[in-house]
Amino acid sequence: MSSSNVIDGKAFAAGLRGRVAEKVAELKSQKGVVPGLAVVLVGEDPASQVYVRNKAKQTLEAGMQSFEHKLPDTTTQDDLLALVAQLNADPQVHGILVQLPLPKQIDANAVIGSIEPAKDVDGFNVVNAGRLMTGAGKPMVPCTPLGCLLLLQDRLGKDLSGKRAVVVGRSNIVGKPMAQLLLGANATVTIAHSRTADLPGECRNADILIAAVGRPEMIKGDWVKPGATVIDVGINRIETPEGKTRLVGDVAYSEAAEVAGAITPVPGGVGPMTIAVLLANCVTSAYRAAGLDDPA
Ligand code: NDP
Repeated sequence: MSSSNVIDGKAFAAGLRGRVAEKVAELKSQKGVVPGLAVVLVGEDPASQVYVRNKAKQTLEAGMQSFEHKLPDTTTQDDLLALVAQLNADPQVHGILVQLPLPKQIDANAVIGSIEPAKDVDGFNVVNAGRLMTGAGKPMVPCTPLGCLLLLQDRLGKDLSGKRAVVVGRSNIVGKPMAQLLLGANATVTIAHSRTADLPGECRNADILIAAVGRPEMIKGDWVKPGATVIDVGINRIETPEGKTRLVGDVAYSEAAEVAGAITPVPGGVGPMTIAVLLANCVTSAYRAAGLDDPA
């Protein structure tokens, strides 16, 4: 497979962040409004700290305001709900992201459910999930699946009519909204999961194969239909024979790349899209709050 068949999510995400920065500047000059993203981190989880730092950095680089709230891991659910209520009411805040996972004394569903749907830039609130499913109202769409759709449509065009898509994974944050987005783009969609009878056989039917499983290199090259577009959402850290660690996806990349028409690498595929789409969602929220149409 030639390198032109590698889907460069890093470059695409950089382009998207550039367009976001332009829309931020336009909103500022038109309405005097600067989009603001509030990120709430509870506890000391090292991976979450890295994500939050990257989100804040890229928010500022796009010309937006970043509000960081770091709370101790002893924080009660009531305290967190009170902070979300304060952010819901703050006109400078257009997007609220509560970093998951939360400490065990806090019910994540209750917290996510308390975020004002218009400011729910992660799109995890049931109101936004319902809007995505029914087409009623304007949803905030979860960032990772929307990032996958943008990469796919850049390759295959906006209309996926006639394409068979298989999504492996049925989580609320990736698999289910991904399937919904593909359906919205007219693909014929199968959702596979741990109870699927013949997973390799299902995958071999896919013109579009989305892997969102969390199992290192589970999807083998001979599960991929020749010419298929493969989007690997998985991020797994594995130990190398030299005793170091490296990141791999859910797809056995080098085998699959021999067969696929196009494929995302890990790292450098879907990963960089997530924050870029988060910023785009926050800007969309700010445009809506200012009474403007969604930015193109
Ligand atoms: P979850 O653990 O919530 O869901 C995993 C899904 O995979 C489940 O639906 C599960 O099925 C299915 N699954 C597990 N094992 C198998 C198997 N052997 N065969 C078939 N299906 C299986 O994970 P997430 O959706 O949150 O994340 C998936 C991956 O994507 C992870 O590697 C995660 O790190 C990565 N990720 C990457 C992001 C990014 O920014 N690039 C953002 C979010 C996630 P069942 O429901 O039956 O248990």
